[in-house]
Amino acid sequence: TLDARESDGHLIIGGIDASDLAKEFGTPLYVMDEAQIRKMCAVFRETLKTEYPNSIALYASKAFSCTAIYHIVASEGLGVDVVSRGELFTALRGGINPQNVYFHGNNKTSDELQYAISSGIGTIVADSAEEIDQISDIARKNGITQDILIRINPGVEAHTHHFIQTATVDCKFGFSVQNGQAEEIIKYASEKENVNLKGVHSHIGSQIFEKKSFVLAVQKVTDFAQKMKVEHGIEFTEVNFGGGYGIWYSEGDTKLQPKDYAEFIKVITDTLKAECKEKGLKLPRLVLEPGRSIVGEAGITLYTVGGIKRIPNVRTYVAIDGGMFDNPRYALYEAAYTAVSAERANARATEIVSIAGKCCESGDLIGVDVKLPPVKIGETIAVLSTGAYNYSMASNYNRNKIPPVVLVNDGRAELIVAPQTDEDLVRNDRVPQRLK
Ligand code: PLP
Repeated sequence: TLDARESDGHLIIGGIDASDLAKEFGTPLYVMDEAQIRKMCAVFRETLKTEYPNSIALYASKAFSCTAIYHIVASEGLGVDVVSRGELFTALRGGINPQNVYFHGNNKTSDELQYAISSGIGTIVADSAEEIDQISDIARKNGITQDILIRINPGVEAHTHHFIQTATVDCKFGFSVQNGQAEEIIKYASEKENVNLKGVHSHIGSQIFEKKSFVLAVQKVTDFAQKMKVEHGIEFTEVNFGGGYGIWYSEGDTKLQPKDYAEFIKVITDTLKAECKEKGLKLPRLVLEPGRSIVGEAGITLYTVGGIKRIPNVRTYVAIDGGMFDNPRYALYEAAYTAVSAERANARATEIVSIAGKCCESGDLIGVDVKLPPVKIGETIAVLSTGAYNYSMASNYNRNKIPPVVLVNDGRAELIVAPQTDEDLVRNDRVPQRLK
């Protein structure tokens, strides 16, 4: 949990003073709060267990992938979804049972499919006819029948930024229900050998706060399930509704409590039970894939202020020692964040500034019009809610080093991703002899 210590206003995370973490590990530094991650895993696990026992929660590992996180989510009884060979490799290294892994992606390579199937992966979420052909071939060669889901777009518009909205007809993911392509691919997959079509997957977007979006998704997916049953005799034994539960980043966002996330889940399970009854469908196994809501609010990033540029009547830039190489989300889709001073977390935020990264891009900002107290050069600031899609989207742009990740819990701080070194930056470089 995140707190400001009463005696001196220092920011405390996982029982540790954030400014001590900055001193010990340096900045920029990602800090992840284990208790918060476990608390959110438990919300999904326990609510599903009570409301809909024939189910599993998967941690959407694209939100934050490293070996330790898989140990944590496995010990909490969650499976995982992966979208690349690298995430699958890391998940297996992290002790995830391959049967509890779902493999997503709109263009999985042959190498990835071979690796997944030979690793005994539980389910592949297929996204093209060619992929289904390949899965069938590889499964036959491995002497198995591979469980699959088909990714569909039920046509639900989630109220969120359009770049992270994925369930409309014009989308690189999935098959549209509206234009009939979903129906065609379901018929195709159901006839394929060495492939067991369990049902469908739909992820309607991210950072969703409106329960209505999930109700609509369940209604549309069950409408489609009913059509497939009645018209083609194909019954779905499993449905996967992806993730997308919103988290708090900044003033405009609602701060949800565990019970609110339980409500989201209950809306899905209640709607699914009611719709299946009404439409004469057997209750399918239910899969949910929360990512951001598991790790997002568990993370903060610590930076050191290196410069302050005041442009009169225009804007003040607070320059930090990180940037789009550790958090590209503003550059990607103008994501908003909240920042505090690590040593004066309660100080009144009387200035409105932009937090500028150190990369060679004007758009390299961590936040625009962020409220902060007047900060000094050398001060540590914390950007909050950076646990999801920050480290996992980090790069070595400008040959900056990807910051280390420290896991905090009950007053203990342990590295789960080590700092990169100068040598790491050139490790894969090769210089042809003729250039020497
Ligand atoms: N499942 C799928 C297929 C996704 O594409 C995503 C995010 O992009 C997720 C789950 C996780 O979404 P979130 O992190 O918003 O919960």
